[in-house]
Amino acid sequence: MVIPSKTHIALLASPGFGHFIPVVELAKRLAGLHGLTITLFAITPEVHPVQDELLRSATSSWPGLINTVILPYEEPTFPSNVDPVPRMLAMIRSVFPSLRSSISSMTEKPIALIVDHFGTEAIRAVANEFNMLKFVFICTNAWFLSYNLYLPYVKEVIKRGEPFYIPGCEPLVGDDIREFTFFPEYQTHKDFVHIGYDIASSDGILVNTWDDLEPETLLAFKDTRFMKRIVKPPVYPIGPLVRTGEPTGAKPEIFRWLDCQASGSVVYVSFGSGGTISTQQTIELAWGLELSIQRFIWVVRPPIENDSAAFLLTPMENDADGLISKYLPDGFLGRTRDMGFVVPMWAPQEEILAHGSIGAFFSHCGWNSSLESIVNGVPIIAWPLYAEQNMNATMLVKHLGVAVRPEVNPSKELVRRDEIAKMVRRVMVDEEGIGIRKRVNDLKERAKKALSEGGTSYNALSEVVKKIGD
Ligand code: UDP
Repeated sequence: MVIPSKTHIALLASPGFGHFIPVVELAKRLAGLHGLTITLFAITPEVHPVQDELLRSATSSWPGLINTVILPYEEPTFPSNVDPVPRMLAMIRSVFPSLRSSISSMTEKPIALIVDHFGTEAIRAVANEFNMLKFVFICTNAWFLSYNLYLPYVKEVIKRGEPFYIPGCEPLVGDDIREFTFFPEYQTHKDFVHIGYDIASSDGILVNTWDDLEPETLLAFKDTRFMKRIVKPPVYPIGPLVRTGEPTGAKPEIFRWLDCQASGSVVYVSFGSGGTISTQQTIELAWGLELSIQRFIWVVRPPIENDSAAFLLTPMENDADGLISKYLPDGFLGRTRDMGFVVPMWAPQEEILAHGSIGAFFSHCGWNSSLESIVNGVPIIAWPLYAEQNMNATMLVKHLGVAVRPEVNPSKELVRRDEIAKMVRRVMVDEEGIGIRKRVNDLKERAKKALSEGGTSYNALSEVVKKIGD
């Protein structure tokens, strides 16, 4: 559905690629399929080459429809190893004055503001002031949305180790419960309670999932006996919105290497935009990959002790001096020369996952990574590290049957080389992998259907656009 052009809306993307990438994709879809004019505000410390390229691609894909504005944030004075949420919210808060003045100076003011999960304070601080419609885009799944919306209403005391029941979802057990967000003594919990109220005060909630991926959870939002009292705005499952690979002109070496590998024969190993593992775990992972005797691409970062999200809000240096190899076991690069490809710091993930030679994704289970794997029909080896990733891993393993995971939680305990090799072989070599591959390919087809014209996600986004246009 195309509404009259010149309907101008604003999107605000929080810092971090996990938010920025899906918000850019939403902007492209709203402009491309629905003809809206978009101002995309990006909150960033500095222009990162990848971010720069993404912004350029958004603007050039729909010239005249998408404008981008960079809002540089002030670095808050939190120690870097505390949970990143309060720090992230302080960064976002610091751009509100420039967001306000940018909107004030526009002759055609946007009539709606769409923020992601961490930008909800802008509903109170900015959107209300300009009398805008307010939407929240949850870049992760309906399960997480249900968790956050329900959190402010939890009255009973849940003790550590007890299961926690959320409407429309499997009970959370063990490490699925994220301590920082769940227990009242943490600042992050208080922040999540505010975010929960803010989401519920919006005019609509967009979620990066689709109807038949999480039917029970999406139904719970409409249950008048229960969740409906909390979730007053409508929930629109509009996903999966994933980054679409830009055609690369000259073919980088990594793709020339992939072109030479057999179909489905390579494991891609990466822990998202910010994930990090310890020195000892890096060594075990290297040995595990080598012992699996499978081909691999591994995005390697310098190990960091006791902080599994070290680069989430801290820009990475690129590895100009080739220092990455010093963290790997002696002789590893030489021994694996013919079977592996090590990429320092950052790789073009979406294009790699779309390559036919990829057979599995060894992933930290950030929701964007999970969706990128699903839409390319790639089985997952789940290695959750931070945020809601344990919850996502549980969904991928238990509900959807598209992943395997280690016995222990990799953000807390060392996973030994033998177990790593075994997990890789379960997916790549064993009978079990055949079923996993079949299920993930089935999800891939269902996702495609949901997004195509007349599909549930397409229709849900059309409803959002209609609400904005009315
Ligand atoms: N990403 C990438 N190259 C990398 C690491 C990450 O392109 O080397 C992209 C990835 O494709 C995904 C996003 O960064 O779109 C990471 O989002 P996700 O939700 O998976 O995890 P987060 O980084 O937020 O923890």
